Amino acid sequence: MPERSESESRKLLGRLREALASHSEGQARLDRVVDLIASSMEAEVCSIYLFRDSETLELCATQGLEQDSVHQTRMRLGEGLVGRTAKSGSIVNTANAPAEKGFRYMPETGEERYSSFCGVPIQRLGDVLGVLVVQTKTERIMTPDEVYALEIVAMVIAEMTELGAFVGEGAALSALHQKPVIFRGTVGQEGTSAGRVYLHEPRVVVTNPISDDPEKEKARLNDAVETLRKSVDNMLLGARSVDVEQVQVLEAYRMFANSSGWMRRMQDDVQSGLSAEAAVEKEQSLARARLSKSPDPYLRERLHDLDDLSNRLLRILTGQGEDRTDMPDDPILVARNIGPGELLEYGKKLRGIILEEGSVGSHATIVARAWAIPLVINAKSITREALNGDTILVDGDQGIVHLRPDETVQNAFRDKIAMQARAQERYASIRDLPAETKCGALISLQMNAGLIADLPSLAGSGAEGVGLFRTELQFLIRNQMPKRGELSALYDRVLNAADGRRVAFRTLDIGSDKVLPYMKPNDEPNPAMGWRAIRVGLDKPGVLRMQLQALLRGSAGRPLAVMFPFITQISEFRDAKAEMDKAVEREIRLGHPIPAKIEVGAMLETPSLAFAPDVFFEEADFISIGGNDLKQFFFAADRENERVRRRYDTLDISFLALVKHVIDRCAAADTPLSFCGEDAGRPVEALCFAALGLRTLSMRPASVGPVKHMLRRVDLTEVKAMMDAAIAKGDQSVRRAVSDWLVYQV
Ligand code: PEP
Ligand code: MG
Repeated sequence: MPERSESESRKLLGRLREALASHSEGQARLDRVVDLIASSMEAEVCSIYLFRDSETLELCATQGLEQDSVHQTRMRLGEGLVGRTAKSGSIVNTANAPAEKGFRYMPETGEERYSSFCGVPIQRLGDVLGVLVVQTKTERIMTPDEVYALEIVAMVIAEMTELGAFVGEGAALSALHQKPVIFRGTVGQEGTSAGRVYLHEPRVVVTNPISDDPEKEKARLNDAVETLRKSVDNMLLGARSVDVEQVQVLEAYRMFANSSGWMRRMQDDVQSGLSAEAAVEKEQSLARARLSKSPDPYLRERLHDLDDLSNRLLRILTGQGEDRTDMPDDPILVARNIGPGELLEYGKKLRGIILEEGSVGSHATIVARAWAIPLVINAKSITREALNGDTILVDGDQGIVHLRPDETVQNAFRDKIAMQARAQERYASIRDLPAETKCGALISLQMNAGLIADLPSLAGSGAEGVGLFRTELQFLIRNQMPKRGELSALYDRVLNAADGRRVAFRTLDIGSDKVLPYMKPNDEPNPAMGWRAIRVGLDKPGVLRMQLQALLRGSAGRPLAVMFPFITQISEFRDAKAEMDKAVEREIRLGHPIPAKIEVGAMLETPSLAFAPDVFFEEADFISIGGNDLKQFFFAADRENERVRRRYDTLDISFLALVKHVIDRCAAADTPLSFCGEDAGRPVEALCFAALGLRTLSMRPASVGPVKHMLRRVDLTEVKAMMDAAIAKGDQSVRRAVSDWLVYQV
């Protein structure tokens, strides 16, 4: 425990508490805070900079710099030493500030007189809210004890900022959590909805960051940690008989809960004058800031453990957040991130989902898509701003979220929702009509699914069958490997729900972004191109065999269609098909009924399979183009990477040439072909695929209506003519030509 900081910072915190408890205006409070810190630290200058918006910091109070510069001096994130402190989230401590790289002199502040600079981020749970700065004339570096004291103070300032203690006059001090805020994220699932915020992990509010009785706080902390440890032990006891992998995860979790370093740091914080909950938050905040920057996935996983334990500890200490019965009627879930299992627990009652993290290919995204719930991902810092019950509008088409919108925005949004409702009515009116083009081509529209919960959409959307059933979702949403009996019962239910319509079950496609929580992760540098899908199935055939048996049993004599993911060459297809043949023989031996008809197909997801020997196209009973993967390998553009995934157009003539090549080869072998990647559900793409000769498209249920509506209005020979004209003109993509033409058709 640093000697100086314990007594000094306790004294300082005691005085701060008095200042904060006073009934003065927010600005006056803030002024008092900088005065107290400056005098306690024997520094000529103490200033507080807070974010005005996500990119700009504003000088909000100062002791020592020119008072006229308060609320005038601003800097961008990363600009100068203050901006650097905020951007990096770490301390900048220097004896000679002007000599530092990136130093920026602000003449209006009069800071040229000062030499040393110590900037400490004011952060709460890893989110930087501002910067606390101490400057002196003499060239000196703040000692570790002094820096520690500043960190403690910065923690208290962060809590008080969050609580609105500095609200009042002054542009940068308007109340938090009241103003309208717009978040621009990434589209996860299209659609719009209006509702109220429902936080997945409601913020625990610490109202008492400072204490004057360290012994009492230490006892509270110790009791809470004891309760926490017991609850983790109980979890472990409950898991013991069930699953070895799960036990391993929990053991690691328990190790963290028993970590003496964590405990000691929190006790030091309490000794310095923080309350038990503020100490927990301080360590959580520091760990988040440190570990979230770590490129090591193991460390980042541990961060989640620590985060989770800290949240539990905070709930034990404050009693907040235990009651989850407060869900509004129109809940829009707001979370940093969420696993598919947790999301499924909320069920379809959610009107929308907003995530700070997440990715387009993540499982939560897949679940949201299956449910057609508008989803926006990468909405940075929304959990910091949003409060339970806030009005919120989700524009899943644009990836935009309006939090606490004003009246005008709400009205415009209502109009948009009404327009979409009219479009839905139009789609419903053609639901039972075929997707027949003006030129008489019949396109079979199927849907993608992966959950039992998806199946009711089969009737509702007008899809003719399930062109892709992603079986891995059933593996992903559990915390242990499903048993054969469970799976066969599930496949039976799927076929029952499909009621005679064809379902193409895709065997387990794990690896890459789909990591089973109960399987040891592979440390692969390039997982999308690594040990995944059928490669795992063939190398470790136990699970594949079990799944094939479950599919055969689940079919209970009905026709069965199975396809293997990520087939890259004919030998893989033959090996996988041999597993199916063996499974069938085994069922016959055991006297079980076998399907009336078995179709065994392959997903074409790598360019190489498009150029496989002719016999491959003859041997496969059907082929489905997995455009999501095929595109990422064709363009060498990671489908998970927001920077590159939209860079190359699906309607690029080179990609269309590949698709056409596959269409021709399947036609020559008389092998049915479908397209089941996301692009099949985009009306313009669907049109172009149909114009090239594709006759089966499988998509999200919500896309069936728009695609059918479009197909029924066009003549494919005209679409093809537009595409050919664009190609002849030398266009890289046919999108412009087809879209321009469409304007006059629909
Ligand atoms: C694809 O790659 O297009 C596909 C349908 O499979 P997934 O998205 O599940 O990888
Ligand atoms: Mg795929």
